[in-house]
Amino acid sequence: MTQGVGSGTQLPATDYCPGVTAVHVRVPAKVNLSLRVGPVRPDNFHDVTTIFHAISLTDDVTVSEGTQGSGRTLSITGSSSSGVPADDSNLAAQAARALATHAGLPDPDVVIDIVKSIPVAGGMAGGSANAAAALIACRRLWRLDVSDAALREIAAAVGSDVVFALVGGTARGTGRGEMVTPVLAAGDLHWVIALSEGELSTPRVYAEWDRLVESGHVSVGGDDAPLLAALRTGEPRDIGPLLVNDLQSAALSLRPSLHAVLEVGAELGALGGIVSGSGPTCAFLASGRDAAIALAAEMAGTGVARAVRYATGPTVGARIIA
Ligand code: ATP
Repeated sequence: MTQGVGSGTQLPATDYCPGVTAVHVRVPAKVNLSLRVGPVRPDNFHDVTTIFHAISLTDDVTVSEGTQGSGRTLSITGSSSSGVPADDSNLAAQAARALATHAGLPDPDVVIDIVKSIPVAGGMAGGSANAAAALIACRRLWRLDVSDAALREIAAAVGSDVVFALVGGTARGTGRGEMVTPVLAAGDLHWVIALSEGELSTPRVYAEWDRLVESGHVSVGGDDAPLLAALRTGEPRDIGPLLVNDLQSAALSLRPSLHAVLEVGAELGALGGIVSGSGPTCAFLASGRDAAIALAAEMAGTGVARAVRYATGPTVGARIIA
């Protein structure tokens, strides 16, 4: 497993830093430029082949030492804080505990402040992002000599998308998504992100996908070679039509109103539009910055989405800010 869990990208260094009492980490959301779903495995996960892409929609996570015996104390604020657990079920708390266990430390007493902009249960891996940020923050806070490879192993055990949130950029994910390899991609892409009301549970979307496959309503398989070639040139007009998400049909089946969001994006001239991961957030590719900002404004004016954001990608993975 060590071999597969991400490679080639240097994570933030673990310098010795005396007197550090709080570490502030910024971490990106992801969109899947391609998400192909394989059969369900004995452990009930699906094998996937995906192209992850980190975008400039971010959460901020600050971890500081708590008082002895206090356990994990969480505060969740920001525009997307509703419904996020503030106890040990929070993925950031799980990550902190997993790192402490790996390092042979006692159950940690930490204060975790999360400022969320990444939509919750929106298909953008916000919880996984917070877990990755907690790993980076706690490694620095506790001055641990834990290698990047070991951190990725811990990340993979916490959740399928946590490794990519550490690495960032544009990368291919296999296995459950935890085996991450960087992809050669030129230039920046400009995105319009349409946030929807409510959440879509990832397990529910996968179950719907299984149902659609069994009933013969969707076909499986496909080849990412054309998309990988387009990413190497960085031409958005080539990339847009190649965006693909197997889970889109399942998300649309559970949330038919997303049809209208995708249609509006196409009518307004997006070069490509997809449901992000398990949804319900949708991502639209534009030819450049000005086109994306104009598309975002027009889409906001239609009222088809709860909120509309402009974002660029790829961005770096979880990084220490202070
Ligand atoms: P993915 O695309 O990785 O399946 P998602 O983006 O659809 O995930 P998340 O925002 O990661 O969904 O949240 C999924 C669930 O995880 C939430 O409903 C919430 O109960 C739980 N959760 C635990 N920790 C967090 C966290 N730090 N931020 C958001 N949700 C969290």
